[in-house]
Amino acid sequence: MRVYNFAAGPSMLPMPVLEQAQKELMDYNGSGMSVMEMSHRSKTYMAINDEANALLRELMRIPDNYKVLFIQGGASQQFAACALNLMNKSRKADYVITGNFANQAAKEARRFGEVRVVASSEDANYTYIPDITPEMISDDADYVHITTNNTIYGTKYTVFPDTKGIPLAADMSSNILSEEVDVSRFGLIYAGAQKNIGPAGMTVVIVRDDLIGKERDICPTMLKYSIQAEKNSLYNTPPAYSTYVAMLVFRYLKSVGGVSAIHEINVEKARMLYDFIDNSALYTNSVRPKDRSIMNVPFVTPSAELNEKFVKEATAAGLVSLKGHRLVGGMRASIYNAMPVEGVKALIAFMKKFEMENK
Ligand SMILES: *Cc1c(COP(=O)(O)O)cnc(C)c1O
Repeated sequence: MRVYNFAAGPSMLPMPVLEQAQKELMDYNGSGMSVMEMSHRSKTYMAINDEANALLRELMRIPDNYKVLFIQGGASQQFAACALNLMNKSRKADYVITGNFANQAAKEARRFGEVRVVASSEDANYTYIPDITPEMISDDADYVHITTNNTIYGTKYTVFPDTKGIPLAADMSSNILSEEVDVSRFGLIYAGAQKNIGPAGMTVVIVRDDLIGKERDICPTMLKYSIQAEKNSLYNTPPAYSTYVAMLVFRYLKSVGGVSAIHEINVEKARMLYDFIDNSALYTNSVRPKDRSIMNVPFVTPSAELNEKFVKEATAAGLVSLKGHRLVGGMRASIYNAMPVEGVKALIAFMKKFEMENK
């Protein structure tokens, strides 16, 4: 039985994608082998690498003066790669701290230079996105780093800071491709695949040409955007199967109307869930309404025992991985692109029933 998987990541993939991958598992495109077994130097794999790249460019309308890289190491490795590639002039960078991952990104960058925290929402347990005005940005910062969607706390930016021309670097791991984004506002975008793109193992990096090739001397070869760009993400053995499944996800996303179409559905899924929570006597979500994520929806009941009971009974009903992150507690429903509307409806129906039974 397929369950509705509300995990924060790895998360659900669209059924047609899984079915296509299954169909091609033993023999990809007449090659007589699986993509898992295939040389990354083969024409067949090169075509996958190129198509995935072209489709992501098309879906996100990525301008020509950006490179798209598919590399390993996850978003966590990009915390260091970002600093090693971009912290190259003043060796100072501005970070906005909106949660655990933003903190980790800043912590990693501190190994390589001076990190200045321009704003933080720690004072309210990261339940909002701080306002950033241009005056708050340091004139000599090499870049400004934000986390566009905060997976653990369920917040997201609705406007991106004006950085006065200083490159804006963004961890978009948990909301890339969920809504249209003007890529030209960013110098660097990175995202681990396992939330909205495909299987873990591949990380998308979108980087503006003028920021490539200025990495620090100590930057390991594998983390150099210049090398990865020059080699078309094939410097060493790439996460080929993950990139292949990502290509299938991109094809699927295009077939359903692209990012604007999936965004409309995402907004509707989130609206249904938040409306239900806000009108319920049992559940609460403490995020400032205007900063609420449409991907990750944390909520609690008034008691830890009831939260535990909720997770247990939901799991038995085929609604899995709803336990909240340990830093927040309670529950969290991650409703990424691949979560069908029916999954959210099933969750709301369960929440209703649970509330009736536990008044
Ligand atoms: C999941 C996540 C990460 C960590 O990703 P890895 O690929 O596991 O390193 C970083 N940032 C955000 C916003 C995330 O959601």
